[in-house]
Amino acid sequence: MSRLAQTAGLTDIQQEILATVRDFVDKEIIPVATELEHRDEYPQAIVDGLKELGLFGLMIPEEYGGLGESLLTYALCVEEIARGWMSVSGIINTHFIVAYMLKQHGTQEQKDHFLPRMATGEVRGAFSMSEPALGSDVSAITSKAVRDGEEYVLNGQKMWLTNGGSSTLVAVLVRSDEGHPEGTAPHKSMTTFLVEKEPGFGEVRPGLTIPGKIDKMGYKGVDTTELIMDGLRIPANRVLGGTTGRGFYQMMDGVEVGRVNVAARGCGVAQRAFELGVSYAQQRHTFGKPIAQHQAIQFKLAEMATKVEAAHAMMVNAARKKDSGERNDLEAGMAKYLASEYCKEVVEDAFRIHGGYGFSKEYEIERLYREAPMLLIGEGTAEIQKMIIGRRLLEEYRFQG
Ligand SMILES: Cc1cc2nc3c(=O)[nH]c(=O)nc-3n(C[C@H](O)[C@H](O)[C@H](O)COP(=O)(O)OP(=O)(O)OC[C@H]3O[C@@H](n4cnc5c(N)ncnc54)[C@H](O)[C@@H]3O)c2cc1C
Repeated sequence: MSRLAQTAGLTDIQQEILATVRDFVDKEIIPVATELEHRDEYPQAIVDGLKELGLFGLMIPEEYGGLGESLLTYALCVEEIARGWMSVSGIINTHFIVAYMLKQHGTQEQKDHFLPRMATGEVRGAFSMSEPALGSDVSAITSKAVRDGEEYVLNGQKMWLTNGGSSTLVAVLVRSDEGHPEGTAPHKSMTTFLVEKEPGFGEVRPGLTIPGKIDKMGYKGVDTTELIMDGLRIPANRVLGGTTGRGFYQMMDGVEVGRVNVAARGCGVAQRAFELGVSYAQQRHTFGKPIAQHQAIQFKLAEMATKVEAAHAMMVNAARKKDSGERNDLEAGMAKYLASEYCKEVVEDAFRIHGGYGFSKEYEIERLYREAPMLLIGEGTAEIQKMIIGRRLLEEYRFQG
């Protein structure tokens, strides 16, 4: 199915990468995704395949062994992968955000140390802002780092780490009051620490525990965990960028590209839902004809396809804006908001087209129905996107009277 979600102006290399990824998705992901998801099984063979394709290093500069591709290429690959199984795009996404933050904000030593091994997928990234008492309100973080000689001692509890168990490098945002007097704005007293650890669960490093996987309604296969720091000692040279107090801005930069990524996931899941819906509608007969011949179902298909097209166009626009070096928070917020809402609606329509069979675990749409809601939450809820969009609009359209 290739009529929808086309992207004009791609280079030969971009087209080649996308064709390879689509082929991989069709042959290696779609046939096994639903079964693995129902078993909540980590897709190791798929991850190994993605490593071979070089996808863990897609945006890492060539000098560090990556492919040095743009955010657009990355987002279009994510769209393809999410079309196959959204959880697989989640496995890559936190890795990509951490690599991006290192590339943008890391010291030379940090880049040299981590990026080549991240490009091969040997080091795998996760990022951690959320805590049990906060997600949207990042400025309320209570986890804390206190300096002790050439080290920092970290204490606190983190929540909702995608790839918390399988990763070996976690970018953790904590409060660090050192050098920042009482009364400093919360976002100026936060620091990102680069925390290396063993993969797995339990005490993965002295002072650092990853309890088991959180049991989720969807987005299965990929591990989502808590992270507990109890006297965790991190050397001062593992402060991202070498200077404390910059963590909030570094994380927000990472989340901004992450929003394009979530938009791309929404596009991919919506495309798959459309494919399933349009196919089923031509096979199922009621009242003597395929349900696709009933106007009510055709209207649904028309609405679904229009939403797929609109979300794809906004996602591509947001990615291109960032690639051009311009600020893209408005476009990324809009793309994330629209693509995730449309994804939920397209999946719901495809589910309705399936009638009772959509409720059966034998049909792929059942999985998509449980996956789509995650996109309404991750990288900032719809309300948070609207706050970002609204504030930016008021900056752009300031009343001059
Ligand atoms: C599967 C999964 C994976 C995740 N992975 C990660 C990860 O890898 N790393 C990480 O750091 N976090 C991760 N998260 C956390 C995610 O970012 C947060 O869940 C999200 O930001 C929302 O925060 P919250 O759950 O605390 O909801 P809250 O912030 O408590 O919000 C609850 C409700 O109130 C609304 N709300 C909040 N503030 C306002 C406001 N000012 N105005 C209007 N409405 C408001 C919200 O929109 C929401 O509807 C993950 C979450 C899930 C479910």
